[in-house]
Amino acid sequence: MIDPFGRRVSYLRVSVTDRCDLRCVYCMAEDMTFLPKAEVLGLEELERLCGAFVRKGVRKIRLTGGEPLVRRNVMSLVDGLGRLVKAGALDELTLTTNGTQLAKHAEGLAAAGIRRINVSLDTLDAAKFAAVTRWGRLEQVLDGVMAARQAGLAVKINTVALKGVNEGEMDRMVEWCGRHGFDLCLIETMPLGEVSDDRTHQYLPLSLVRRRLESRWTLAESDYRTGGPARYLTVAETGTRLGFITPMTHNFCRSCNRVRVTCTGTLFMCLGQEDAVDLRAPLRASESDHLLEAAIDAAIGRKPKGHDFIIDRGAAPAVARHMSVTGG
Ligand code: SAM
Ligand code: SF4
Repeated sequence: MIDPFGRRVSYLRVSVTDRCDLRCVYCMAEDMTFLPKAEVLGLEELERLCGAFVRKGVRKIRLTGGEPLVRRNVMSLVDGLGRLVKAGALDELTLTTNGTQLAKHAEGLAAAGIRRINVSLDTLDAAKFAAVTRWGRLEQVLDGVMAARQAGLAVKINTVALKGVNEGEMDRMVEWCGRHGFDLCLIETMPLGEVSDDRTHQYLPLSLVRRRLESRWTLAESDYRTGGPARYLTVAETGTRLGFITPMTHNFCRSCNRVRVTCTGTLFMCLGQEDAVDLRAPLRASESDHLLEAAIDAAIGRKPKGHDFIIDRGAAPAVARHMSVTGG
């Protein structure tokens, strides 16, 4: 799949549910309305959808959400997609999770063929964690992270840099990740969906975070790339990687290799644009995948050049949908 700007689309992110057991302040409002179950694709439908993308050239699938591990029986989907990895049809299956259910699922994820996971963790301070996630308990997530490590999964920690919340904790995050052998990726907040807090209060430019970190750590340039938006450095003192995702200060669209599908089968060709293609109707219209594959081709032909995020006081979100709909 090659888009109109010559980019090869080889990476599919699948939001398996819009639901979540946390309510992170930058991601969701506390009183979110979730999709009625009838609109959501069944796990077998999701697997069929992924299979069509794999036949079209997708080599990597990431399951996300919402919180993917709160979807009932999600492991049946993980196992099904894991078989594609084992058969060589897919290079990698991976997962982004908030970690709350990891203690329960880490072994199963590893057995299914997952080798690496991303765990979102913004702070190591229990009170701040409770404040940022509204409903979360830090200890549960730390237990999950350690279970993942125990199961042999490589863990990357994703941390959203939040002004006045975790900006004083960055050294500690680098140290903690280094000690446990986890890579760390810092992310700037993006204006996605209405949340109750004012985002101009949350936005912390990573250029500033990096300057501060450099006074304590030796950050060496690295040519490690995952094909995604992150730029990686190596922390000389720990040997682990430190990534920066800066959608607000650095445009990463030129090398974009991904599309995103929601749990209702809506395909978004860009995280920061409204244009989308419905894949549920062609999926359900026929038992063969011809209609589905034609719809995928048409969608890739419409992948836009990039996004245009601006965080400004009073500005509307760049797109109305929340990150939990399209997946991070
Ligand atoms: N629930 C899972 C989790 O938290 O990892 C997967 C879905 S979550 C939407 C994926 C990632 O998006 C998380 O790392 C989260 O911190 C990030 N995220 C959510 N809303 C965001 C926003 N407005 N700006 C930047 N990152 C955001
Ligand atoms: Fe849930 Fe992840 Fe959004 Fe937090 S960032 S509310 S854990 S979907």
